[in-house]
Parts: sequence; structure tokens; C-alpha cells
Amino acid sequence: MEKTYILKKENLGSWLLAMAKDADVFVPAEDRENSIINFFNLSRIEPELGWGREQDKPYSLNLEEKTRLSPKQIIYPQSEDLLDFSYQKNMEQLDDVEISIAPSKTDGKQIIFGLKPCDVQGIARLDAVFAEGVVKDSYYMDRRNNTTLIARGCNTVYEDCFCTMVEGSPYNFENADIGMYELDDDYVVNVFTEKGRQLADKYGDFLKPAPNDADYYSKALDDRESQSSEKINALWEGTDYKDIPEIMNANFGAEAWKEVSKKCIGCGACTFVCPTCYCFDIRDEKDNQQGQRYRCWDFCTSYLYTLEASGHNPRAELSQRYRNKINCKYNYNYRRHGHLYCVGCGRCIDVCPVNMDIREIVGTIVKEK
Ligand code: SF4
Ligand code: SF4
Ligand code: SF4
Repeated sequence: MEKTYILKKENLGSWLLAMAKDADVFVPAEDRENSIINFFNLSRIEPELGWGREQDKPYSLNLEEKTRLSPKQIIYPQSEDLLDFSYQKNMEQLDDVEISIAPSKTDGKQIIFGLKPCDVQGIARLDAVFAEGVVKDSYYMDRRNNTTLIARGCNTVYEDCFCTMVEGSPYNFENADIGMYELDDDYVVNVFTEKGRQLADKYGDFLKPAPNDADYYSKALDDRESQSSEKINALWEGTDYKDIPEIMNANFGAEAWKEVSKKCIGCGACTFVCPTCYCFDIRDEKDNQQGQRYRCWDFCTSYLYTLEASGHNPRAELSQRYRNKINCKYNYNYRRHGHLYCVGCGRCIDVCPVNMDIREIVGTIVKEK
């Protein structure tokens, strides 16, 4: 169903604001006060948003740099209520308990604009876990079904980007509803899915059918793709990513795991910024006879993650926990879902307080073959 439209650059803001009247639109912006780039709800920050690089506004749209947190938090929040509960106990007869449960509701329609291609692949990886698995997660699915993804190709490639080493590329729009890239004074807007088509139809005042033929745009896209891809360093030259899961299995007992993980302090920052990490814990907050059951992200480099009620911990050493983290991404999920669960966004490299670099670590283990 692919269709190509043109959006004038000067109309970008009006298009986003028009969509924000009908849905929650999330855009990548810099929060100047906190010096952080993240996705923000446009309706919430719009009065304080500079669309260019205005220095006098608290927020500015930033379509170049990566956000600190991945957009997964918009579909799979860091912490969310699952249900409210209350109960009445008959103190005369203790097995006589009346329980009432009200599942929490998710929000309405949402649009995430300006996703990097690697972030779209990250959401597709989560889909395979939450929305397509044997047990479907209704909280995730409700939000995901209500979410439209508008990706933007990467003109700028950063030092920690490595999507091309792990199945992706800077202009790979697979799994996006809409994919955009710059061409002179315009954005070329490729619409791939029914959700994308509905947006293109509804906001047709801004999106005009593209005047040139398909080959013209295909060449423009290919040129951008090769220019950006060439800037990414291939650290595992000579190793096909498809061979990595087997190598990980063969090297499970390698001494190198101790060496590569010795700097890790198990802080979990790499997990919280990662677009594909999906583990969570479930807890109850209770006040008298009512409360909430909620879930919050968890991380496997934590000692508590595997601590058993008996006091035994099957991954007591950090090197064992770090090995699990890398195998989850480069081995176990490849066998389960057919894809590596690292999309090469580089965020974990950027935030690690002790400068662990996942590319070097995988490279070291791969060389052990
Ligand atoms: S890793 Fe690739 S897709 Fe992701 S931001 Fe960098 S160049 Fe873009
Ligand atoms: S961010 Fe660095 S130190 Fe913290 S858990 Fe991840 S690898 Fe270890
Ligand atoms: S492991 Fe690191 S580079 Fe890979 S997807 Fe997660 S944050 Fe990005």
C-alpha cells in the first residue's frame, strides 16, 4: 500500500499541531532546563516549545539527536497501575473474603513522531514479546493498537550508532506506519500501513501527493541510505550477525565473560534506556483493605532479579548476570523470535557510568570462537 506524499518543511509544525487536536502526539524535544532530549507530549509543551533553535524557549524540537530514553516508555511505561483492588474480610469466618478488582484503563490514540529507525525496530521487538506471543499482554496491546509510528531517516549518524551491524540501517522504515526524509525544502513522506493512510487522508491539507515518479524517490532514499550507512564503523567485520547466537552458545563458559564484565556495577542504566529490554516486576501498594497492583521495569544485572525466596541466587556473580544480559539480546531472543534484541541504538554506551561498550564486549566474545 506504499504511497508517497510531500510535506513542505514550513508546514511541519502546523501538521503536528493539527494531529495533536485528535490524539496525543509525542515529539522529540530538548528540555533545556534539565539538559535532556526526550519524547514529550506536544500538547503539554507546545506553549513553551521553540520549533527551531530559539534559545529563549524552555523546549526545542530536536529531530537530529537521539532521545535519552527510548520511545518504548510511551507504549510500555516505566511504571503502570494494572488494577485497583479492595477486599472485605469476615473476622468471624476468615475464609469468607469479598474481593473487588477493577483493571486500569490505558489511554486513547497516540502518535509518536520522529522515531529513529532503530527505535521502530525496538518497538517491533517488544511487539513479538507482548502482542504476538502465546500470552498476549492486554495493557501493552491496547496502547500499541492505538499508536501510530512516524519514523524519520537519520541524516546524522553518531559515534555510538551501530544499527547496520544488527540487521538495521539509518533509513530502514520497516515496521513504521509512516517513514519520512528530507529532500531540499520538503519532507518526503512514505505511507506504509492503514494507520498511516488514515493520517494522510485526514490531514490532506498538509500532505500532497508526490509529483515525481517512484524511481526518483527510491534513488533519493538509496543515496541517503548509503551516505549515512558508510559512516557507521563495523566492529565485527567478518562475522555475520546470524552466526552470533551459535558463538554465544559455544562461549557460554568462556573466561572472557569475567574480564569483559569486571567494570560493571550493575546499576541498570543500560536496561532503562534500551528500546528492547522488556522485563518487569509486579508489586502491590496497599493501604488497609484497598490498593493498587502495579508493574515497573526490572533489570537482570541486579542481584535481586534472580534472588530466590530460599536465599539462593543462581546468578550470584555480576559476570553471570552480565552474561545473561548479552545472551538475552544476542542469543536467546534470536532463537525465540528470530531477531537480535539489540537494534544498535547505542544508548547503553552513552549512559554507562563506567564506559562499558556493548560493541566491544560482543566483539571480544565473538573473537573467542
Ligand atoms: S543507530 Fe542507526 S537508526 Fe539508530 S539513530 Fe543511529 S543511524 Fe539512526
Ligand atoms: S550501565 Fe554499565 S555499569 Fe550499569 S549495569 Fe549497564 S553495563 Fe553495568
Ligand atoms: S543493547 Fe544498547 S545498543 Fe542495543 S538496543 Fe539496547 S540500548 Fe541500544
